[in-house]
Amino acid sequence: MKSLRCKECGREFPTQAIFVCDFCFGGLEVAYDYQAVRADLSREKIESRPQNLWRYRELLPLEGEPTDGFFSGFTPLQPAPNLARALGMKEVYVKNDGLNYPTLSYKDRVVPVSLSRAKELGFKVAACATTGNLGNAVAAHSAKAGMPCVIFIPRGLKMSKMVGSLIYKPLVVAVDGTFDEVNRLCTELASRHPWAFVNVNLRPYYTEGAKTCGFEIAEQLGWRAPQHIVLPLAGGTLLPKVWKGIKEFEMLGLLKEPVTTRIHAAQAESCAPVINALHEGSDIIKPVKPRTDPPPVDHSLRIGNPADGFYALETIRNSGGWGEVATDDEILEGIELLAATEGLFTETAGGVTVAVARKLVAQGRIPRDESLVVAATGNGLKTQEAVQERLPQMVPIEPTVESFQERVVPMLEN
Ligand SMILES: *Cc1c(COP(=O)(O)O)cnc(C)c1O
Ligand SMILES: [Zn+2]
Repeated sequence: MKSLRCKECGREFPTQAIFVCDFCFGGLEVAYDYQAVRADLSREKIESRPQNLWRYRELLPLEGEPTDGFFSGFTPLQPAPNLARALGMKEVYVKNDGLNYPTLSYKDRVVPVSLSRAKELGFKVAACATTGNLGNAVAAHSAKAGMPCVIFIPRGLKMSKMVGSLIYKPLVVAVDGTFDEVNRLCTELASRHPWAFVNVNLRPYYTEGAKTCGFEIAEQLGWRAPQHIVLPLAGGTLLPKVWKGIKEFEMLGLLKEPVTTRIHAAQAESCAPVINALHEGSDIIKPVKPRTDPPPVDHSLRIGNPADGFYALETIRNSGGWGEVATDDEILEGIELLAATEGLFTETAGGVTVAVARKLVAQGRIPRDESLVVAATGNGLKTQEAVQERLPQMVPIEPTVESFQERVVPMLEN
């Protein structure tokens, strides 16, 4: 890590807990000394390391040794032949962050990086603004690190998601407002309290952790990038960083072929500010107020004013990708399709990406003979409420053969 650099004007800043440029208000991003990394890093070196996100440590923003996340990252990239057949595709993989450790979502990538850097910078308290999964990850990783933890949520998050934070006994502040209001409040608080808000004042470090998803996809495909990746989009971290990761690998000579990857975005129709701008051909992302009535199926992606929405849009355009929305029904059908074809239960955000992948294939935006990676960023056990009404009925019987014959056998014959 060399410095922080403004994504707009290119000015350089020291690697402190800062996230906006004093001159132009652009976002700050970590810059590396790529020449030094190139001299030092090879495929063999990476392959020889433990299977966690720190195997790419030269491209992650720490000065010293990592202190957290030794079991996080390196999630399966699962070949998905049955899903491929259902989509009419030849080569499909699922990047399964529903198995990320320990909180079963992609946030187990960004949090260990952000918290390790926060500790280097001397922070004593971890905090975040969250739609649910980030809170789970910050609570778990800070418990392990012995750091007190404060989590800000929009009031009314589903209990199945909150249990995964509350079990670690953080202080949870339930704000009577939208996620965007929670996020704005945390931005104000970050300047008053010396806390590490992992996705606010530590944002430049946090977002770098998301590159590991791109690194892993390329490594797991045998040091090649796929032709298409469909990613979910909320705050807009994942898209630009998966792209940055793949491009870094290419630039460092770690890939066997030039990158032709198109990055595609998936949002829920109930909250789709970036897809709206994409479809309008606009550079301006108009903040939306996420629909609340009827309550949307998906909560993890419910960010109406995404911090990195512009950069996500730029990534879609520069990579030649596209984006679509999924309706509530399409999200649930996407979850069911992945379960039925691959035996994999993804959370609602994964339903959004499967549904959108299906649309993009149908539209011809993803040609059927090209390779596709679909990101399943969270585990279905976290959003059980979403699918409850569509589950099959259970068959109650008495503990007798007669009862089995009477109730079950007729069903088997159908
Ligand atoms: C946070 C999250 C995302 C997307 O996050 P970005 O802020 O857009 O990077 C996607 N899926 C799940 C399950 C998440 O928790
Ligand atoms: Zn600037």
